[in-house]
Amino acid sequence: MYMTNYFNVNNPATGELIQKVKINTEDEINLSLKNGHESFKEWSKINAHERSRLIQKWSKKVNENKEELAEIMTKENGKPLSESLGEIDYSLAYLDWYAEEAKRIYGRTIPANTESKRIVVTKEPIGLVAAITPWNFPAAMMARKAAPALAAGCTFIVKPASETPLTGMKFIDLAHEAGIPKDAIQYVNGRGSVVGDLFTDSDYVRKITFTGSTPVGKNLIKNSADTIKHVTMELGGHAPLIIAEDADLDYAAKQTVGTKFRNAGQTCVCANRILVHENIIDEFTDKFVAEVKKLKIGNGLEDGIDVGPIINKKGYDKIVDQINNAKKNGAEVMVGDKYDADKENGYFFIHPTVLKNVNTDMTIMHEETFGPVAPITSFKTIEKAVELANSTPYGLAAYFFTNDYRTGNYLHDHLQFGIVGWNDGGPSAAHAPFGGMKESGLGREGGIEGIEPYLETKYMSIGGF
Ligand code: NAP
Repeated sequence: MYMTNYFNVNNPATGELIQKVKINTEDEINLSLKNGHESFKEWSKINAHERSRLIQKWSKKVNENKEELAEIMTKENGKPLSESLGEIDYSLAYLDWYAEEAKRIYGRTIPANTESKRIVVTKEPIGLVAAITPWNFPAAMMARKAAPALAAGCTFIVKPASETPLTGMKFIDLAHEAGIPKDAIQYVNGRGSVVGDLFTDSDYVRKITFTGSTPVGKNLIKNSADTIKHVTMELGGHAPLIIAEDADLDYAAKQTVGTKFRNAGQTCVCANRILVHENIIDEFTDKFVAEVKKLKIGNGLEDGIDVGPIINKKGYDKIVDQINNAKKNGAEVMVGDKYDADKENGYFFIHPTVLKNVNTDMTIMHEETFGPVAPITSFKTIEKAVELANSTPYGLAAYFFTNDYRTGNYLHDHLQFGIVGWNDGGPSAAHAPFGGMKESGLGREGGIEGIEPYLETKYMSIGGF
């Protein structure tokens, strides 16, 4: 994929070349960082209402170009066109929310302990923000970093994932068309490890914001230490989904299909371990498998497709290894375990797969899957379900289905996850704080929490009254 000075972006559904993208040289990237730093002086001084208007104009441009953006996304990522359109809407929600939040960056005054003083607290933008984004949500992961950064008065530079740079590049071109200064929001392209080091080594960068795998996140945190940069990390997940004995099984089966097979299971909040009360496991599995059988797999540009391809061979091999490991250790295939892959042409489809009788010795129960495979296991008591759910270093999303408020409250209080869906397989929203506990990350994106990481707090004590 990587040549000397460009890399290929291929369609994962067909393997065909979409576009060659120039790899930025070290000098070019350093110049972009310098320009981003210098433009901070002007951008941060533009008043909040004007910054808000410019982000609103950006949103309008994105909305006008929605179909084109969605088609680019489906071509480079493989997700069905309807999901790409949904992701553009989701991205617009971040632009709109943070355009408004720009006007709501409040300070405060604190009563002093003497009549002769006043204490004033203000918020200031932290400076140039460098972002690195993943291939699974090429627009949304960028929008939810760029929008609060610009709204806060920071300047922004992003390195999109090499598999899917085209959506993000177009997104940023539209920001410039909307009137946001060229150096206030920029992109650069290149290998993650190379660009990552340039970002963390740079004195111009005051914050690193990253969405991607936990090992890369840990590395970025370590490399940010020398210059004490702020960091926001949205990392991996291993979401449990618990079905309590009293759950509405028809509803739960449909919701579980949504949260498991969206983006071919390649989302960090995908249900990765399905834990079902032992008294209803057969009934739930039958209903779930019936729903899974309705899913249509294929090229996301075609009508009616629900599940697209796996992004690349590395992802495909990992998923196939997990399925084989589970089968070898006694898992029963209820549906799926079918493949349509062409290593030469470079496309990799895995049919939606449901595995029953899985146990905690299998890799699928302790590694993130990032694919369309649903492993099901049983539990006896809700306490045991919580123990199983929490037995992972990850803490991003968890789901549960119950209509009993005591069970629901118990699960809410005991699950160690940043995002909890109670009878809700799709809890993500621009107006809510998204992020993980434990090794799933640091900080939150979205909601009022999502702008704080781009702000410094300054406290001034005025004496002599
Ligand atoms: P990845 O390998 O960590 O890549 C993500 C981004 O990091 C890409 O832009 C990649 O660039 C870059 N990168 C790779 N190595 C790097 C390095 N040494 N230093 C700096 N940047 C580097 O992860 P992925 O396989 O693309 O994405 C899947 C992972 O992301 C999963 O673990 C998933 O859970 C996580 N994820 C988390 C969230 C969340 O919000 N918590 C959302 C989506 C995905 P190249 O493309 O050039 O390699």
